[in-house]
Amino acid sequence: MQRYFVKPGKKVSLDEWDPNDIEGFEGSKNEGKEELLKLNKELEPLQELLYAENKHRVLVILQGMDTSGKDGVIRHVFEGVNPQGVRVASFKVPSAVELAHDYLWRIHRLVPGNGEIAIFNRSHYEDVLVVRVHGLVPKAVWSKRYAQINEFEKMLSDEGTLILKFYLHIDLDEQKQRLQARLDDPAKQWKFNPGDLKERKLWPEYTKAYEEVLSRTSTKWAPWVIVPSNKKWYRNLVIGSVLVNSLKSLAMKLPAFDGDPTQIVIE
Ligand code: AMP
Ligand code: MG
Repeated sequence: MQRYFVKPGKKVSLDEWDPNDIEGFEGSKNEGKEELLKLNKELEPLQELLYAENKHRVLVILQGMDTSGKDGVIRHVFEGVNPQGVRVASFKVPSAVELAHDYLWRIHRLVPGNGEIAIFNRSHYEDVLVVRVHGLVPKAVWSKRYAQINEFEKMLSDEGTLILKFYLHIDLDEQKQRLQARLDDPAKQWKFNPGDLKERKLWPEYTKAYEEVLSRTSTKWAPWVIVPSNKKWYRNLVIGSVLVNSLKSLAMKLPAFDGDPTQIVIE
């Protein structure tokens, strides 16, 4: 899955990244789903180890256009993981209090602590995406944020946070089908937001803004992964395996027992 990592400094053109790509896995869709179940089973003990060791912090950032599957990833990739060690933070339109502070203020307080996995459903990247596309602050302000974000993430990394950033890549046609599916299914209609149609019209502007994010903020300490996401099973598989491999690479150990357990008498 290394092929989906954006090399630091690489200029990203999203039309060169195929949202239908399933080349990283050799089996069928059903085999892919079985593989994800195996990854879920691997993730569980890794997360317990992370919690027990109480040393590393893991930050997973999910970004993508509307309907790209951020909620689906949280549901499927983290299935079976102990809820005690995982926290989801969803970043919506900022409140008045949040707007009265710098854009990292609401983000920083929700980063993971020792032994914790935090999943960001949207993030500080909205402050160079929707904010840029809609001109919510002047260019002179948002254009400085790429460097600020890199520095902020460097600090988190230096202090012991593993950062993984996933861009869920779908195309315009896939979004149309997913929005239509929401309209057609009474059980999904609650998810339909008329505002999404307005954002959809801005697809080229969002694409440009995402390309700049991916080109300027993929770093050694906080890389972006461009996840082909037209196929949901493949999207989950890519994220699941990147996550499991990254946790394994931390080479975590259970804390040593303090003393001799055979000498302890429980009365
Ligand atoms: P959803 O993820 O569908 O619940 O929608 C959340 C909405 O909040 C999206 O339309 C985001 O673009 C918007 N949002 C998130 N962060 C910001 C931000 N910093 N400024 C403005 N809008 C934001
Ligand atoms: Mg939405």
